[in-house]
Amino acid sequence: MKKVFEEGSIKITIDHEKCTGVGDCVTACPVDIFAKENNKAVARHLNDCIECCACVNACPNGAIEHSSC
Ligand code: SF4
Ligand code: SF4
Repeated sequence: MKKVFEEGSIKITIDHEKCTGVGDCVTACPVDIFAKENNKAVARHLNDCIECCACVNACPNGAIEHSSC
């Protein structure tokens, strides 16, 4: 199941079938957009996003799509 998180011009899609909850996105994001809920990644306060694409690059399972990356 794909979970879509959208705020302003930022849209992050996390494929919860691919997400294994490793948490690399939580560590990689410099502004703490990601958290884990029930061992799956979620995104919040997207307005803080600096569009660096570290999350997309960090995920070993290709689970994250980002509107700017
Ligand atoms: S693009 Fe950068 S700032 Fe935005 S959610 Fe991903 S890692 Fe965080
Ligand atoms: S890095 Fe990828 S697999 Fe790991 S928690 Fe984040 S979205 Fe899920």
